[in-house]
Amino acid sequence: MIHTDVKKMKNHINGEWVESLGEATESVPNPATGKIIAYVPLSTEEDVNRAVEAAQAAYTSWSKVPVPNRARYLYKYLELLQTHKEELAQIITAENGKTLKDARGEVQRGIEVVELAVSAPNLMMGDALPNIAEGIDGSIWRYPLGVVAGITPFNFPMMVPLWMYPLAIACGNTFVLKVSERTPILAERLVDLFYASGFPKGVLNLVHGGKEVVNGILDHPQIAAVSFVGSEPVAKYVYEKGSANGKRVQALAGAKNHGVVLGDCNLEKTVQGVIGAAFGSSGERCMACSVVAVTEDIADEFVALLTEETQKLTAGEGTNEENFVGPLIRESHKERVLSYIYSGVSEGAKLLVDGREDSKKEEGYYVGATLFDHVTTDMKIWQDEIFAPVLSIVRIKDLQEGIELTNQSKFANGAVIYTSSGKSAQIFRNSIDAGMIGVNVNVPAPMAFFSFAGNKASFYGDLGTNGKDGVQFYTRKKVVTERWF
Ligand code: NAD
Repeated sequence: MIHTDVKKMKNHINGEWVESLGEATESVPNPATGKIIAYVPLSTEEDVNRAVEAAQAAYTSWSKVPVPNRARYLYKYLELLQTHKEELAQIITAENGKTLKDARGEVQRGIEVVELAVSAPNLMMGDALPNIAEGIDGSIWRYPLGVVAGITPFNFPMMVPLWMYPLAIACGNTFVLKVSERTPILAERLVDLFYASGFPKGVLNLVHGGKEVVNGILDHPQIAAVSFVGSEPVAKYVYEKGSANGKRVQALAGAKNHGVVLGDCNLEKTVQGVIGAAFGSSGERCMACSVVAVTEDIADEFVALLTEETQKLTAGEGTNEENFVGPLIRESHKERVLSYIYSGVSEGAKLLVDGREDSKKEEGYYVGATLFDHVTTDMKIWQDEIFAPVLSIVRIKDLQEGIELTNQSKFANGAVIYTSSGKSAQIFRNSIDAGMIGVNVNVPAPMAFFSFAGNKASFYGDLGTNGKDGVQFYTRKKVVTERWF
């Protein structure tokens, strides 16, 4: 049933909100209640074509705007995002479900990328070396690529889009954004604030939808590069198809992040860190810690305290500050997570905290914090990305076994060690495959001025998002060798 009082969202093309050319829509429920809060259009390839046409037209002049002037628009955007922080967090909680505390954290992490992008004049600077041969100078110059596109997941409706367009646009590109059809609402505010900052029309375009829009982007000959963040199979697909079509692609994918806890760690701080990393944002984080390998000397003590603390976490609406675990994104995801909990039990893991009780709530898509002990590498709960507040404990004899176990995962996004030994931390850093490593921190998500990407099946591509990688991804170099007579 279509609710006529619920708004149908629009695309934003060439500086204006426009109806999608497609008839089909998908409903967007508030995951905490199941109540429909918007309808998102499933746009067509023709919508993509129009957005690219607008972006291409804008590119001609935007790429010629002096770099410091481009940065000034972003300063204004930064100011507006900061002024609207709380409103943005409230929208994230309404459409994604995460608690307001987590949403506020996300808004802050998104803003930090704009803080990076305003230093475009520094970031884009090339290199020069005079006198490389008699009377000859050499230099490297950076130029924008043209029209670039971004495709984003549901779990960070603000931070992940902001990994992409501010830096791309600061570098002189124009942008076509396709956000997740499951969390499309925040993007509307992000685009409105963008144009309230004075940017010329067509610099940022938004096309809502699903697979057809993604294919429209991947097939469009005028799109020079694609940034993707999402699940592993789709990341691989986007990377392969985009690359085959001659595009530069960075595709950040799924994860199964491991923590290794050694006997010499600070027990209380480690337990608190693991709780935040495993159950924050309901575990719907690519940097969530979903397996902890703990050495036998401390395992019983660690597991006892972790169980006690996990039992205290309540699941419920993200707007109630007392809740630690918000709802999952959709009913279908909840069912999938429940099936993993059943599989863990049937495969012989010991269920210490059972979040299934919360799934019986009448409204919303809840699974409470869930803790398994004595998990082994042949179990599905060890192998697969569950993307939920489900944590597995594995018992190990020493650091070396923890490293070997972690490196068996097909994913390699993040990994963290808890120890008071600098030597153990050094060995861990040198031996772990993961792209982002933490030592005694909860979630080792790098700040915006560092790059962000994993290894193995967690990343398809070469250059990650953010930092110097991001600037390199969104620019092309020209090397000049010159002699003057
Ligand atoms: P998803 O892959 O379902 O969707 C991501 C994007 O791809 C969306 O815009 C969606 O519309 C599109 N899409 C989905 N199916 C498609 C298909 N068959 N063909 C073409 N396009 C398709 O991911 P999600 O569920 O929204 O996000 C969660 C996933 O993202 C998790 O696996 C998580 O680990 C990953 N993630 C990774 C990072 C990272 O930095 N590595 C960051 C955030 C999320």
